[in-house]
Amino acid sequence: MLTLRKHVFPSILAVLLLSSTACTSESAAGSPPGVVTSSPGSGAAPRSSSPSVEAPRLEPAGRVDAQAVLKDFKRRGMVGHLEALQRIADDNGGNRASGTSGYEQSARYVEEQLRAAGYNPVRQTFTFDEGRRNRNQAESFNILAETGGSAANTVVVGGHLDSVEDGPGINDNGSGVAAILEIAKWMKEKGTDPTNRVVFAFWGAEENDLDGSRHYVDELSETEKDQTSAYLNVDMAASPNGIRSFHDGDGSDFGDGGPEGSKEIEDVFFRFFEANSLPAETTPFEDGDSDYDAFLRAGIPAGGLFSGDEESKTDTQAQAYGGTPGGDLDPCYHEACDTLSNIDRALLQEMSGALAYVTAAYALAPGN
Ligand SMILES: [Zn+2]
Repeated sequence: MLTLRKHVFPSILAVLLLSSTACTSESAAGSPPGVVTSSPGSGAAPRSSSPSVEAPRLEPAGRVDAQAVLKDFKRRGMVGHLEALQRIADDNGGNRASGTSGYEQSARYVEEQLRAAGYNPVRQTFTFDEGRRNRNQAESFNILAETGGSAANTVVVGGHLDSVEDGPGINDNGSGVAAILEIAKWMKEKGTDPTNRVVFAFWGAEENDLDGSRHYVDELSETEKDQTSAYLNVDMAASPNGIRSFHDGDGSDFGDGGPEGSKEIEDVFFRFFEANSLPAETTPFEDGDSDYDAFLRAGIPAGGLFSGDEESKTDTQAQAYGGTPGGDLDPCYHEACDTLSNIDRALLQEMSGALAYVTAAYALAPGN
């Protein structure tokens, strides 16, 4: 599908140097801008001949216009959600950690936004170990909202809603929450009619032990696991000295890939950044590092976005993205200063657009 990529990885993609194969806008009259409804004949081969008895893998071929999606997300209201989450933290002792009033108010905000957009959000409760000071079992919950479309090819788009106790968590992971909310709203506003069901998930207790996403996956039957075609994670999308990275689905760059189907997710993220001439790079799945973990362990194809936490920016990264070489990608990671002033707004727009593009590509992929 993307043979060029093998020549540009594992270093940062020199997409600006590649001859432009920019996608052509093929929007049919009357179709929502950014979502191409006519088949461009991309040549993606259906896999109906696969001998596997697993659920068919989706082929998220090029029906969505990556440049139009980016344009949309340069105008969308992600920052408004961050302002709301900051106010909630300010009103609740400076954080939005699971089990606190700050989490409850964050949840109500997300639910209001989803309802106003026409969704029907539900809470999925679970117990978790508060840890640290005591071993109290506490209760928290995920928020789930879904589109129409075939449940046999479900796409889950998730990010954690809780912050650490030490700060308001605006980049980590208010940024991911803002991206998911805007994607959910964007799909409704565009009148997108997904072929495949999308589940928008806002996880609780990620900062404890990834408890919310673990609970969600634990509750899936074997059939439901097989019917989950992709999990798309976003955990930090606006790091102030950040990078554009997406997960190395096949392990070709870092040696530890995800289940079959994860490479296709990686490829679709790549396609977005390439089509928009935005430098980007891959990042490994790290054991127990974020909410993709439970999905990977269950054999569900996964991928997603990460703009960086406490690693230092390399010289090569500074050349590609700007910013401060040698400085932390997010100098306020898990600290009280992870506030509204700790975000890169342009990066948030680009990363939100990338996640929207991949979500739409999977939501609209033809089944087989
Ligand atoms: Zn996080």
